[in-house]
Amino acid sequence: MKAKRILVTGGAGFVGSHLCERLLADGHEVYCLDNYFTGRKDNVMHLLGNPRFELIRHDVTTPFFIEADEIYNLACPASPVHYQYNPIKTLKTSVMGAMNMLGLAKRLNAKILQASTSEVYGDPEVHPQAEGYWGHVNPIGERSCYDVGKRAAETLFKDYHVQNNVRIKIVRIFNTYGPKMNPEDGRVVSNFIVQALRGDDITVFGKGDQTRSFQFVDDLVEGMVKMMDSGEDFTGPVNIGNPHEFTILQLAQRIVELTGSDSKIIFRALPSDDPMRRKPDISLAKQKLDWTPHVALDDGLRKTIAYFKTVLEEEQPELFTLVKA
Ligand code: NAD
Ligand code: UDP
Repeated sequence: MKAKRILVTGGAGFVGSHLCERLLADGHEVYCLDNYFTGRKDNVMHLLGNPRFELIRHDVTTPFFIEADEIYNLACPASPVHYQYNPIKTLKTSVMGAMNMLGLAKRLNAKILQASTSEVYGDPEVHPQAEGYWGHVNPIGERSCYDVGKRAAETLFKDYHVQNNVRIKIVRIFNTYGPKMNPEDGRVVSNFIVQALRGDDITVFGKGDQTRSFQFVDDLVEGMVKMMDSGEDFTGPVNIGNPHEFTILQLAQRIVELTGSDSKIIFRALPSDDPMRRKPDISLAKQKLDWTPHVALDDGLRKTIAYFKTVLEEEQPELFTLVKA
């Protein structure tokens, strides 16, 4: 395989750092761009000695120029806590970031992949969600800056493709978890594991009967690379997610079991517009990319728990008297 020059925006984040590792392992040159809003240099520190890796501090809301063959556009906070912190900035990141990166791809004739999301389906009324479903999205709710921003980015991708022949790829990512999530990230898997390891109460929002389908990060990275490498007539969007659906209460119980924690499960108010059910239909990914997820929830959770143990043990060694595992 020919080595390529690949730009990864949001490369110091959770998914981006795994993707950078994978692309380097495949022999490519990787330019990792990030403004460190939710990402951390720590996630890519171990790659800095590699002469094929370069780390660049930049904000995608302003134009950026570099020579590259491919662009993976991941820059955008993904946790509700962080994307709601500055909703206008979130929308700017999705929309202006997409425009700036599409402009770059157009100028370079580079192939560009957009990290879109299952949130484009909103609180879906169709189950499971296939790519043909247009979604059920509130344009003025707490999640809108993220959902609507990601929908607008998809539109920009499609229009740059139709109008300017830019070679595009769109993946709609469903809930993904794994090592290198930020312990303070606020998403459900990291929250529950950190709470369990610290011996804190586990905060289930609502009754915990809402569902999600959790994908381990290695499966996602494989799907993204397969999509980038797929035939040019296939632009997507394509769902990349694990169709095994769990309630949030089941997830909390499983994490308590796997950590051996004494934590109590408690219930808190459900945030507004929190989707009730989410599960991908992955027939298109199977057919077009020959891709299916391989990592079962328990296996992925064990790896993620082991990661958070190391992180927390360094920060607060005294905590580990509280857990039995
Ligand atoms: P993350 O928050 O860990 O990573 C996002 C990265 O983008 C961070 O490193 C952050 O610092 C960077 N960033 C944010 N705004 C930026 C800006 N204006 N300029 C430059 N960099 C900026 O989240 P993640 O889970 O790694 O998500 C990566 C991408 O995948 C996001 O686009 C997200 O919307 C998408 N996605 C993720 C999931 C998931 O479950 N992890 C699900 C659906 C979609
Ligand atoms: N959630 C929860 N407790 C938490 C964090 C999240 O019960 O501490 C719930 C949240 O209300 C949602 C689900 O878990 O129903 C997934 O939340 P997350 O923020 O991980 O992702 P998203 O809602 O964007 O799918």
